[in-house]
Amino acid sequence: MNETCFYCEEEIEGYLRFASFVYENDHVEKPLCQHCYHEWLEGIKN
Ligand SMILES: [Zn+2]
Repeated sequence: MNETCFYCEEEIEGYLRFASFVYENDHVEKPLCQHCYHEWLEGIKN
């Protein structure tokens, strides 16, 4: 049973990457695929 990406809902194979989001004043971590994780990192920098 694989995790699915929080953004694109594709199955994540191999190493799981987690991105931190603030959701309703709570701090949550969601799994992202390699592609979306990279885009998330880019978003943080900007
Ligand atoms: Zn994704």
